[in-house]
Amino acid sequence: MSTPRGVLIVDDNDALAENTAEILMGGGLGVRIERAATGREALARLGSGSFDLALVDVRLPDVDGTNLLTDMRAASPGTVAVMITGDATMESAIAAVRNGAFAYILKPFAVADLLDTARRALAQVALERERARLQHELELSERKHREVVEAMPAFILALDAEGRIALWNRRLEEVTGSSRADMIGQPGVDLVKGDAAVHRLPIKNQGERLVRWERAEVALPAGAGTWTYAVGIDVTSEQDMLRRTLRAERLAAVGTLAAGLAHEVRNPLNSAKLQLAVLVRRLERGEATAASLRPVAELVEQEISRLERLVNDFLAFVQPRPLDLKPMALAELCRSVLAFVEPEASAGRVALAAELDENLPGLSADPERLKQVLLNLVRNAMEAMPDGGTLTLRARKSDGHAEIDVEDTGEGFADEAPVFDAFFTTKPQGTGLGLTIVHRIVADHGGTIRVRSRPGCTCFTIFLPVASSAKPG
Ligand code: ADP
Ligand code: MG
Repeated sequence: MSTPRGVLIVDDNDALAENTAEILMGGGLGVRIERAATGREALARLGSGSFDLALVDVRLPDVDGTNLLTDMRAASPGTVAVMITGDATMESAIAAVRNGAFAYILKPFAVADLLDTARRALAQVALERERARLQHELELSERKHREVVEAMPAFILALDAEGRIALWNRRLEEVTGSSRADMIGQPGVDLVKGDAAVHRLPIKNQGERLVRWERAEVALPAGAGTWTYAVGIDVTSEQDMLRRTLRAERLAAVGTLAAGLAHEVRNPLNSAKLQLAVLVRRLERGEATAASLRPVAELVEQEISRLERLVNDFLAFVQPRPLDLKPMALAELCRSVLAFVEPEASAGRVALAAELDENLPGLSADPERLKQVLLNLVRNAMEAMPDGGTLTLRARKSDGHAEIDVEDTGEGFADEAPVFDAFFTTKPQGTGLGLTIVHRIVADHGGTIRVRSRPGCTCFTIFLPVASSAKPG
């Protein structure tokens, strides 16, 4: 049971006060009633107790009841006052209401009038109290959320429907040096939107931080439009680290390559040097006939061409040019590669076969580089069939890809042979860079390459993504 609500009757007329109290008690309002005979007593009671309603006689011995209203509000802001007056002039009514009285009652009053007014006044107080409670709760909850946003060790900002900054949390203030007052209302779309994985956050007077944002679009009620909320993490040092690691990895890769190259260069160099020594010896011994010198010179020349190939391949590998992408017809490219190697093939007794799907999806690719890929694979295939065989070039479409097979009937290689590794070669004249370059170019096109090999059948398959807009070729 809640405590009964307090009503203070302020009247110097004992009989009247008694009468009023009785009416209220009998009215089923469930109230506790106290009385004060003077203005001063009324203020003292209001200050020490809790009253919802004060019924105040306008004429009091020590003070005018209307003037008393102001002091009463100060003493007990939650108490509603109803004035009781014997002479209802317009002036007294206006004065009472201006001073904040809830209502006034004319003497002599009817019981029903008094009860009705008291009931309405009490309802008003209850309503006001509920409003204040809700307001307080709202403020608490708002403060709680605000504190979460502020205390979070992350950047939190909001953009209103116009893309202006509507929230700029403490972390943002601390790190950027720009205060909330500076930033609220500023355009903020560039700070968090766009496709970039990482955004630049300008720092007042000194550079920037790199921030990764998570965003949420929130449709607000009451026509406030869609707001963007963004939570950001500072990834500046992470990005730094990544860059350093990548650079270190690249350096290591270049080092490995250079070591491989040096190793590869040494063989033909040595062999050319030996041959030259032979040449010199024969010259010194007077054995220098065309017949005895030519084979030696030819060997030297071979080694030099090998060196040349090595350098060319190596350059192709380490200095990849940017791709020159254009819409291209795959079947046509395959045919031109076959035509190009036809003389070598027939000399090596290799039969060429083509199975080209004429309805191939359009490709956006660098034709020169793709040609280089196919030539490398076709040459390897022919070199794998020294005694002749069949080389088949297939092109077909598959789900979102174009697929190209280069298949031969040679001896093949063991599963574990690292054929795509730089400098891996089983050929006396090989550089071991052909497939490395193939792999690189295919990857540059966003494609992949796969190989299956067993004795009698080796098949390299290239998967290239299909350009969605290009026409079939
Ligand atoms: P290279 O042709 O200079 O040796 P590649 O990178 O083109 O260098 O090939 C590396 C190695 O992979 C070859 O030496 C060979 O051993 C193996 N290889 C490549 N293609 C084939 C193939 N079609 N059949 C059998 N072995 C192959
Ligand atoms: Mg090769």
